[in-house]
Amino acid sequence: MKIVKTIAEVRAQVKEWRAQGLTVGLVPTMGYLHEGHASLIDASHRDNDRTVVSDFVNPMQFGPTEDLESYPRDIDHDAALVEAHGGDLIFNPEPSEMYHEGFSSFVDMTVLTQELCGLSRPVHFRGVCTVVSKLFNIVKPDRAYFGKKDAQQLAVIRHMVDDLNMDIEIIGCPIVRESDGLAKSSRNTYLNEAERKAALVLSQAVFLGANMVRNGEKDCSVILDAMKAHISAEPLAKIDYVKMVDCATMQQIPELDRPALCAIAVYIGKTRLIDNFFTEDV
Ligand code: AMP
Repeated sequence: MKIVKTIAEVRAQVKEWRAQGLTVGLVPTMGYLHEGHASLIDASHRDNDRTVVSDFVNPMQFGPTEDLESYPRDIDHDAALVEAHGGDLIFNPEPSEMYHEGFSSFVDMTVLTQELCGLSRPVHFRGVCTVVSKLFNIVKPDRAYFGKKDAQQLAVIRHMVDDLNMDIEIIGCPIVRESDGLAKSSRNTYLNEAERKAALVLSQAVFLGANMVRNGEKDCSVILDAMKAHISAEPLAKIDYVKMVDCATMQQIPELDRPALCAIAVYIGKTRLIDNFFTEDV
């Protein structure tokens, strides 16, 4: 397992693999890896001859008041995890390697990015689409792996690949949770003991909503009201959004008459956490 910091080194390595006829999977991450990321690396290792993990806290996808500076970083820990899960190469560039002086081209998207996290984080998906496009151009993978934890991101990437005719298969992987239900996230490290307990309202609300869908409830407002009531009962929790959207368009729907995504974002203290379920998965 190798760690490289330049685009040229990634290209040289991938070229060598291609010359041997090997397939390549890409797992884009912002580092501080946990078992959620590990599940993506496992999936790539299973499907491809070689796996590249990008480990880059992408400044472009953070808003001016967000946690870019405090975002946790630990490349030694990440290297051990990638190696243990069969990854072959970590691409860990400096921001200046990805965004040279005068950088001025962006990949942006309408409609799908106008709801959910796109509403609360206006520059976020432009940053995600731009960096993922760059990573696709640098690595040129056969397949790329994304978690359903970031469900809107997964939908946006699928849509971008389709719109822009990128010849890459996008694989969505299930949410990995702590044993008590909390979705694993690098941002969970921000939580103090009381907040860690309070954060359980997210997964509890998701399980509550999924259960109502399983039992045949079709009225989205009934489901969403029950989830909101559960979250609001926790004093440390402040709802950003609790919504049901069409899986394909990410637009809100009143009734479960098509495949839908139920997505939530909740502040626990200062930490913004997300969780969700797809109605097709319940
Ligand atoms: P991040 O480093 O947070 O940008 O995440 C990198 C990738 O890992 C994204 O595709 C995420 O959706 C995925 N991911 C993060 N947390 C989880 C989790 N708990 N379960 C599954 N995938 C995850």
